[in-house]
Formats: sequence, structure tokens, C-alpha cells
Amino acid sequence: MTTAGNDPRPGASGAETSFSALGLISQLTRAVADQGYEEPTPIQAKAIPAVLQRRDVMGAAQTGTGKTAGFALPILQLLAPQASISPSPARHPTRALILTPTRELAVQIEESVRNYGKYLPLRTTVVYGGVDIGPQMKILHGGIEILVATPGRLLDHLHQKSVNLSRVEILVLDEADRMLDMGFIPDIKRILSVLPPQRQNLLFSATFPDEVRKLAKELLRTPVTIEVAPRNAPPDLVSHQVHMVPAARKRALLGHLVRSRDMRQVLVFVRMKRDANRLTRELVRDGINATAIHSDRTQRERMQALEDFKQGKVPVLVATDIAARGLDIEQLPFVVNYELPHTPEDYVHRIGRTGRAGLPGEAISLVSPEETKSLEDIERLLKRKLPRAAPADYRRENPAEPRSHRSKTPHPARSHPVRPHPPRQQPAARPASPPGFDFSKPYEPAASAKTPVPAVPPPHRHRQQRPTAALLGGLPAKREPHK
Ligand code: AMP
Repeated sequence: MTTAGNDPRPGASGAETSFSALGLISQLTRAVADQGYEEPTPIQAKAIPAVLQRRDVMGAAQTGTGKTAGFALPILQLLAPQASISPSPARHPTRALILTPTRELAVQIEESVRNYGKYLPLRTTVVYGGVDIGPQMKILHGGIEILVATPGRLLDHLHQKSVNLSRVEILVLDEADRMLDMGFIPDIKRILSVLPPQRQNLLFSATFPDEVRKLAKELLRTPVTIEVAPRNAPPDLVSHQVHMVPAARKRALLGHLVRSRDMRQVLVFVRMKRDANRLTRELVRDGINATAIHSDRTQRERMQALEDFKQGKVPVLVATDIAARGLDIEQLPFVVNYELPHTPEDYVHRIGRTGRAGLPGEAISLVSPEETKSLEDIERLLKRKLPRAAPADYRRENPAEPRSHRSKTPHPARSHPVRPHPPRQQPAARPASPPGFDFSKPYEPAASAKTPVPAVPPPHRHRQQRPTAALLGGLPAKREPHK
């Protein structure tokens, strides 16, 4: 980050005006204007003033709502008065700690903080596992005001004494429900025990299962509660379709769908990383260009896979739930649940990948008889029955099919492989607004009590394409199931 003068540029944009109405200083309003933001999102409008008043915050919001700027901008402002241009590490104590469950989120957040803070002399960095700790230690030794971290790697740094958290004034727990799912709560408790007791705490979570509520209760002092709907998946923008199909026929059906629907960008979910590998190999063998992301692939491989997918070079990205968490893919038209997820909540997370940026999307689930119970669980959660597709005539397209079932004509994908293409121009047909579950609301398990959620915020007009480096990472391999 660099220093900058106090005055906003002449002819301040709408973004500067409306963000400054929230009390933000000019260095920050200029930075958000540079990002192309025209006005604060609902969570920003609520969170920024609350954080500036040094209130604790409990935010019910998913990634995609603009929550990062909701906490990052006021944190930068609160830290700004003591920002120093001195090179001495002692003048750059760690004063804000942002904990987040996955590498990709950590990287995205750090990148956002850097962008928003580019006119302030505050230092920020990110630490996450699965990479050499040495370079991270070196950066930490140099002094860092804002540290974004995944819990496991932060504990490593605490053990190595490469970071001192005794001066932390603000703690952010991001995606607390995901931290819980991933078993990070004990790590977080260990980290909390080394933080100064007097501090400001901000907790964000898409859902509030009992354990997250308990954590929130322990952590937050008279918090301001903020709830916003995700802007990604308004209820009438995602259509759902279920194909009842034997497991052995799924691959053929997927191939059929990709070809017959001319799917140029489809995110395919499987449960296990080994299945992601296998399906990817099989699709490629069938003539459909595909790539996989999961936590066993290297950072470089994941970034490459995502980049190829985003640029339209590879139309099919096969992912596990964990690897896909937090992916921000513009205008993703199709999500295919090749297998239903472990939990019905993950269905909601998965389909939140499509129907973004105000464009319609389709969530297509291939459900085998063994998965009927999972489908029922999802339908119970959504409070409606998902529409069943008519059986597809995909047999002739299946290269794995016994010869007697194959068409005499050459395999369409062999003669015309799915090609690289620009991002979709024509969104899928607009689906009917589904009754029952409201996708504009953060998912809430049935058991817990909940207050109503306000209306869906308007889509942003100036979203920035993220550098791919910001998007992948996930978890240490041990946390993702192999089987
Ligand atoms: P987040 O939920 O923080 O991950 O943000 C999701 C996306 O929204 C990111 O690509 C941000 O750059 C973008 N964004 C955040 N705030 C705004 C805003 N006020 N206007 C437009 N886009 C925004």
C-alpha cells in the first residue's frame, strides 16, 4: 500500500459520495471508486458504520454479498490513524486478524484488503497452509498490521513465534459455519486464548447452527446483528431439475447434457476428490474437455484449472464441495450435481455458484436410486419438490456403452470436441419462481430460530474479474474426504 493525500479527487464519483456518507475517509472512498463500486451493498451500508463505532458485529451473510468490504473498509479506517511509514517492524504490530476457513477465501480477502487500503500505509498479508512456511515467516517478521489467515497455519506461526498477536484490536471470524464444518473450532479457541481480551469482534456466517451461536455468544459483546440476503442467487434466477438415473448411467447423461444443451461452462460437483479425478479422466476420454479442482492438486494446478475454465478453454470443471467453496465465477450458467452432497445445506451452497450477477442459472442434479434419501432431505430443506426431468435419450452418445447400443454415426464429441469459447452470451431460459424455499435468504437449518431477512439487494454493476490466484486453495488434504 502507498500513502496518499487527504483530498478526494475533483469530480468525486457516486461511489465516493455514497461511501463517504457512511463515514469513510477519502483514501478509502477513492479506493472503492477505483474498484468500480458505485454504491455500498446492503451489508456494507449496515456494517461499515457499526464497525466504525467499534461495535461487535454478528453478520448473517454469504460470500458474494460484499461483506469483505463491509468489514475491511472500516477496519482500515480504524487502523489508519496509527499507520506508519517507518520501516521498523516494531511500528507495524498486528492489529487486525481475519480468520477464514479456506486458502482461497483467505487470498481473496487479503487481495481485497490490499485494494481497499492502497492509499493507506498499512501492511497486510495472508498466511495459509499447504505451502512453505518460510516466506510467510519472513513477511511476518517485517511487521504486518492486518493479517488474514487460515486457523491451522496461524497456529503453526504461533508455535514458531513468527507472529505476535498481543496487540490485536479487531478480530474477524469469517464463514464461521464453514469453520465449524471443517472442524476448526478447537483451533479457533486456541487462537482466541492468545488474543488480548479487550478487542472488537466481528463474526460472519451464512448459517447459524447451534455451535456457531454458542461461539458468537462467547465472543461477541452486545453485537449489532446484520442480516442480508445473498445477491447471487435470487429465488427466481436458479431453476432446478432432477434427472433420476442409475449411477452407472450418470456419465453418459452428463455427456448428453453437455452436448445437447451446448453447455460451455458447467461446474460439476462430486463428493470425493478421487471421484473428481476419475470423472474428469472419463469425460476427457469421451471427448469432453474437463478439468478438476480439489485439495490434492497443487496450488498451481488448481489455479490453472480455474483459469482455463473461466476463460472458456475448458467447459467442464469438476469440483468437490470444499474446493469450490468461495469460488467467484462470473455468470456461471450451469451447476451439475453429479452426486448429491453430503448435507442438504451443501446443495444450497452449490447452487449459489450459479444464478449470480442477476443472470439466470440452472442447477441440474443426477440422482441415482441410492440417493433418494438425500434428495428427500434436500426437498425437505427447500420445502418443495424439485422438478423431475423427462428421461433423456442419451444412450447413443455414450462411448462406454456396449457396441450394440451405440450409434453407427461417429461420436459427436470425437468429431467435434467441445471447443473453447467466450463466456456465455445467452443465459438459460428464465425459470419460474419456485415456491417454498427462498434462495434470497441465507440458509438456516430448520432447528434454529431466525429473524426475517430483508429483500434481495440489487446486483452490482461493476464487478471486477478477480485474478485467478485469489480463487483457489482450499484445505490441507487431510481435511477433505478421500472416499
Ligand atoms: P464478497 O462478498 O466480499 O466476496 O464480494 C463479492 C464481490 O462483490 C467481489 O467481487 C467484490 O469486488 C464485489 N463488491 C463488493 N462490494 C461492492 C460494491 N459496493 N459494488 C460493486 N461490487 C462490489
